[in-house]
Amino acid sequence: MENKLSFYNTLTRKVEQFVPNTAGKVAMYTCGPTVYHFAHIGNLRSYVMEDVLEKTLRYIGYDVKRVMNITDVGHLSSDADTGEDKMLKGAKREHKSVMEIAKFYTDAFFADCKKLNIKTPDVVEPATNCIDAFIHMIEALIAKGYAYESGGNIYFDTAKLEEYYVFSGQSEQELLVGVREDVQEDANKRNKSDFVLWFTKSKFEDQELKWESPWGLGYPGWHIECSCISMKHLGEYMDIHCGGVDNIFPHHTNEIAQSEAYLGHKWCNYWFHVHHLTNKTGKMSKSKGEFLTVSLVESKGYDPLVYRLFCLQSHYRKPLEFSYEALDNMTAAYDKLVKRIGGLSRDGEVQQDAYHVYREQFEAALCDDLNCSMAITVLYDMLKADISEATKYALAESFDEVLSLNLTTAHAAKEADSGVDEALERYILEKIEERKAAKKEKDFAKADAIRNELLEKGIVLEDTREGVKWKKA
Ligand code: AMP
Ligand code: ZN
Repeated sequence: MENKLSFYNTLTRKVEQFVPNTAGKVAMYTCGPTVYHFAHIGNLRSYVMEDVLEKTLRYIGYDVKRVMNITDVGHLSSDADTGEDKMLKGAKREHKSVMEIAKFYTDAFFADCKKLNIKTPDVVEPATNCIDAFIHMIEALIAKGYAYESGGNIYFDTAKLEEYYVFSGQSEQELLVGVREDVQEDANKRNKSDFVLWFTKSKFEDQELKWESPWGLGYPGWHIECSCISMKHLGEYMDIHCGGVDNIFPHHTNEIAQSEAYLGHKWCNYWFHVHHLTNKTGKMSKSKGEFLTVSLVESKGYDPLVYRLFCLQSHYRKPLEFSYEALDNMTAAYDKLVKRIGGLSRDGEVQQDAYHVYREQFEAALCDDLNCSMAITVLYDMLKADISEATKYALAESFDEVLSLNLTTAHAAKEADSGVDEALERYILEKIEERKAAKKEKDFAKADAIRNELLEKGIVLEDTREGVKWKKA
């Protein structure tokens, strides 16, 4: 199979041609959400772009297996192993158990993904499912001399590695994004950059979920889950690992450290990172600024797919600033686009030559470091081109396998929605007028008949001082 896709590999700091370990197959892993709260639309920017990457791979013919974890234990409020477990924080906030919180926000996450047409990965595995595997890997790391016990916790010894900062070409700024609030020195660590693999005796005495381990009752650190879950489902060699740029350090750096120390060989060849969605306060986060969720955006009248289009129109390697003005512009563009496609006739012949020319242009745009806005330009170009409507329709349907904007169905759905409601409303208002006239004529039998006729259609009339009002029964 031809390897035509190129994208930016954070590990080599270059746009590189993608060559998988096994021809035609892709082993892909995505860091999933920490399910202590709703995902904000910044988190979802990362998942939208990862979805586009996965769908591009499938579109150009790869057989993809994609795995995602769900972080339901061990992610502390600072990525540098300090603060409280985020899950516990969520449980306290809502007076629920950690598992209740995890279930609720995992379901909410996938409901949001569905609204944004983000495909669910082939395998989704919560961290709390795999505690035995974590313990096994930590035991192996201790046996190999890469991990040590100190103050009751187990730490990874970064000094044992030839190179720890594998993403060191990243700017200081990028390295620091993950290291957030209240970073405190942990006196148990041999080296400043060491990180926790397993917590036992620590200041987190009230941790709700704890498991037996060779080192006592405790719970895993955050990073170990992604190494174990990916190996469980994808084996020892991985092609692509994804996340937002704040995952580069320390999370992905630590994943590589422990995975390669454990395996004794290189683990993952390509690292794909999506830049942040920002707002006036900088990086959008769950802890500061306005907490923007899909539901909030929807409640303000925006179609979630307009947000998807907003993400696609910007390159994944650039920060993207959110604003409602931008969403307004996107809404206008989206409505126009789907109306145009919705109006295309499917009758007639699909011109094979033209179809292939535009399909190739579309693929070429995506294969050029996932240039989605260029891919959308190809869509506009083909809509303007002098080719049959059936060809245009077929191309739009095909492009939507990657863009996932409901290009061919959105307009009909909108029409159906407003069509039914408008017609029904007109009918109700006519009947109300007729009933008013009947009452004036003192034809109460007729007035009652009209009321009953509407009732049969699920509409209840109410005579109020301001006039007749109606509502759905
Ligand atoms: P979390 O639920 O905090 O573990 O984050 C889930 C995903 O969202 C990770 O891949 C993060 O790197 C990513 N992420 C967090 N904040 C943003 C943001 N403002 N813009 C884009 N991606 C983000
Ligand atoms: Zn991860």
